Amino acid sequence: MPSIFTKIIQKKVPAHIIYEDESHIAFLDINPMEKWHVLVVPKKEYETIFDMTENEYIQLQKIVLKVAKHLEKTLNCGINIFQNNREIAWQDVMHVHFHVIPRREKKDFLNFEAWDTYSEGEWDEYREKLLLAS
Ligand code: AMP
Repeated sequence: MPSIFTKIIQKKVPAHIIYEDESHIAFLDINPMEKWHVLVVPKKEYETIFDMTENEYIQLQKIVLKVAKHLEKTLNCGINIFQNNREIAWQDVMHVHFHVIPRREKKDFLNFEAWDTYSEGEWDEYREKLLLAS
């Protein structure tokens, strides 16, 4: 059964995609820790980073850096980057992904109630600024 992220890659499930190339995709997390929380995902459906080759991991990191720099420049923010492997380590979607999270105010990192939501039309307003050319 394909992962939810594979379905996004196949355009069978909608997502706000900000970047895409032959091997990677980056889109907004549906449940953002802070606005414009992005997930960077390899198109090959690896469950964890343990399944990736060193080169694939390095290529993915290049996209993570590209997305982080783009968000920093666009939003003038700090950035958290993190990545979970296996359920024991809080992995929920079993398809490798990096979280790239803009930080514009200091919050309690693990306070779920402090997580963010979008208002109607916000994506349309930011879309042009957030899109990143490959
Ligand atoms: P993790 O706990 O590291 O596996 O994180 C999985 C992330 O995927 C969570 O932050 C979810 O909010 C996010 N997520 C799950 N389904 C979707 C979806 N359809 N579109 C965007 N993000 C999603």
